[in-house]
Amino acid sequence: APDSVAGKTYTIGTDTTFAPFEFRENGELVGIDIDLMNAIAQDQGFAVEIRSLGFDAALQALQSNQVDGVIAGMSITEERQKVFDFSDPYFESGIQMAVAENNNDVAGYEDLEGKRVAVKTGTEGQAFAESIKDEYGFDVIAFAQSAQMYDDVKAGSSVAVFDDYPVLAYGIKSGNGLKTVTDKEVGSSYGFAVNAETNPELLEAFNAGLANLQESGEYDEILDRYLDAGA
Ligand code: GLN
Repeated sequence: APDSVAGKTYTIGTDTTFAPFEFRENGELVGIDIDLMNAIAQDQGFAVEIRSLGFDAALQALQSNQVDGVIAGMSITEERQKVFDFSDPYFESGIQMAVAENNNDVAGYEDLEGKRVAVKTGTEGQAFAESIKDEYGFDVIAFAQSAQMYDDVKAGSSVAVFDDYPVLAYGIKSGNGLKTVTDKEVGSSYGFAVNAETNPELLEAFNAGLANLQESGEYDEILDRYLDAGA
């Protein structure tokens, strides 16, 4: 049986800006991932120190054992399962394309020919864009941070962005000046990750805590706090 998590402090890596999962509000790190992680830690009797690193940086920090786990709207993919162990899925997601609100030229992937699209390094959005770029004849530019990726579209340097649809929907609702024009692509659900065969007690506690929060209604409360807020 794995060691107990009780009384331990785990260091958890996360993304910087990936609203509504992690972002800053009045300087404080908030979001669905942050609230879930804190609530699970409280439920299971361990402490967390959350580090806002950026998505790719968080995955690298995990692989080099600088953090014990990652919660970052991180999709459970087959490729990642070779190096990480994932919790039970806690949120359904997938990829979608968005363009500037006033862009009436790009209504589908076929309109991307000869153009550039923005993605975030190491994400499923990047992988999806790369997988269709030759077919549709567009270039992909990858940024470390979401803000840089969105700015590139707002500045008109890129005509589109590929990101997770719950994140696009939240951003659009918040008035980020973008719109979606294509269907959602099937994607993977989000999970909490640890290194393969490392900290199994933490993964077990995460799953137990998640189940308790789902049972008690606190999981729904956390989601509603961010998704019903009218953004
Ligand atoms: N869900 C996406 C992935 O895992 C993006 C995560 C993120 O940008 N924080 O690749």
